[in-house]
Amino acid sequence: MLQKKTDVVIIGSGPGGATVARELARSEAGLGITLLEKGRDWRRSPLYGTYPGGMMYTDKASFLTTQEGLTIVRPLMLGGATSMYCACAARPLPWWRDKYNIDLDAYAAETVRELGIAPLPLSLRGVASTRIADAAADLGMDWFPQDKFMQPSHSHNGFACGATCMLGCRCGAKWNAAQFVDEAVREGLDLWTGASVERILYDNGRVAGVWGKKNGKPFAIYADVVILAAGGIGSPLILQRSGLAGAGRGMTMDTTLMVYGRAPYKGIGNDPPMTWSYADDELGVLYSTLIDPWLNYPIAMLRKGPRYATTWPRWGQTLGVMIKLKDEISGYVRAKKRGFTISKGLTLNDQQRVAQAEQTAARILRKAGCDPDTIFSTPLRGTHPSGTVRIGGMLTTNLETEIQNLYVCDASVFPEALARPTVLTIISLAKRLAEFVQISAW
Ligand SMILES: Cc1cc2nc3c(=O)[nH]c(=O)nc-3n(C[C@H](O)[C@H](O)[C@H](O)COP(=O)(O)OP(=O)(O)OC[C@H]3O[C@@H](n4cnc5c(N)ncnc54)[C@H](O)[C@@H]3O)c2cc1C
Repeated sequence: MLQKKTDVVIIGSGPGGATVARELARSEAGLGITLLEKGRDWRRSPLYGTYPGGMMYTDKASFLTTQEGLTIVRPLMLGGATSMYCACAARPLPWWRDKYNIDLDAYAAETVRELGIAPLPLSLRGVASTRIADAAADLGMDWFPQDKFMQPSHSHNGFACGATCMLGCRCGAKWNAAQFVDEAVREGLDLWTGASVERILYDNGRVAGVWGKKNGKPFAIYADVVILAAGGIGSPLILQRSGLAGAGRGMTMDTTLMVYGRAPYKGIGNDPPMTWSYADDELGVLYSTLIDPWLNYPIAMLRKGPRYATTWPRWGQTLGVMIKLKDEISGYVRAKKRGFTISKGLTLNDQQRVAQAEQTAARILRKAGCDPDTIFSTPLRGTHPSGTVRIGGMLTTNLETEIQNLYVCDASVFPEALARPTVLTIISLAKRLAEFVQISAW
């Protein structure tokens, strides 16, 4: 068995784990840090950013579903889900401070400056996407240019791809959490990829380390501090296997669906995803411009019925309005002897609000010129599995569990759904935790 002793172990390299790793590695505290990531680094593989690649580095080849049939894309690789995200950024909402006394604003502002977060210039937001925003404005909805973790100037190909690829960015324009891991490695972080943590080790209510397998070989790493950042599904599973049975009871997903319609002009398929958005916080819905990538489209539509899959030939003329719902906490993530199950549907209240949002989206598409007979909604999907190890439930506001020095720092800590892009909030939480861990280490 591989064994090691260090100061801090971090599990998972999504925005939560990668940010804590980078902040601690850069700090003066001089801590020994090991980052354990279940997946591998795919960024230099020729398959990265391709359809086969997208299937290889996602859980169950992207066919992971809840018992109720919601699909979940769950990337398992260095950088976590930021390897496949749409690079949208939203500042933490005021309720973090007002309801939970967690002030993330300064951390978010610092991140916005560091990573150059801003909307794409108008010329790069996509003609058809901009027509959707204009149509919504005609109906009295003030859509805003969506902030992006995206720098066209960093692209190797002059942004010729338009950053349309949600399967993994090959041109370098999208920020990926793996870049924070690279920085941490340069500062001395010990990175293990292919290392899957199965259990947390603890003794007398205090964390002692982790146990897992690296490429099939068992390992134990002993540490004074363990930070669990395996994501909204991974973190509750590890906690359950470690004896913390409350983890994974209830979750949110920012449950999502898209409303599509055929336009008499070129659709949004070749526009960057989500360049314009609109938040209706009274209803608890975020709208944005989005369509499934070309090859994913018929697969997603088949789940609705063969008739919908036959709309694939008009993909190039399709407009899409995405609806992200602030869904209520419900369902569960549960570890089984082998694997896990997820139950997550929509409550009655969720269903009513989705129905209302679908009508609004259809109105916008009609206004944008879509043929009303071609407008339909896609099946539901869970895009942001979160809220499975919630602040105020299993965690203190400093993200500590009932086990001393065992922290959680990822989407699972959300006390309620954001109905917003999650990554900037997760980075902010991680920066805050890194500060707390450094102070505690002194
Ligand atoms: C297609 C798609 C588009 C999205 N678009 C956006 C967007 O535009 N903007 C936005 O803000 N958000 C977006 N999101 C959501 C966002 O990417 C995630 O909410 C966010 O990455 C979650 O961060 P995390 O740190 O909680 O976990 P993750 O990013 O999921 O990272 C967790 C990591 O832990 C690893 N892991 C899991 N189990 C173990 C284990 N047992 N041992 C070791 N390692 C383990 C995983 O391999 C993974 O790398 C999108 C998500 C998807 C799937």
